Amino acid sequence: MARRHRRHHPQATVRRTGRYTFETTSGTRPGLMHAQDVLHLTCSCEAGQEGIRCWHLVRALLWEQGYRAIARKTARGERA
Ligand SMILES: [Zn+2]
Repeated sequence: MARRHRRHHPQATVRRTGRYTFETTSGTRPGLMHAQDVLHLTCSCEAGQEGIRCWHLVRALLWEQGYRAIARKTARGERA
């Protein structure tokens, strides 16, 4: 089974949108979405725009790490 990183905001959903880009849906504010770039360490939320490493970005980074680990073990076809 895939190990999941769940610390803050357990209801938030992280989705990969590109090679280095992710999209995080807020669990507490449905419909609200922020885009992260793990290459440039940016996020479209208010904190991210001020250069603060927000939890969206942290989660995207964790997600990417988890994804790499999973991708190494399993073939494609798994949707996070
Ligand atoms: Zn953010």
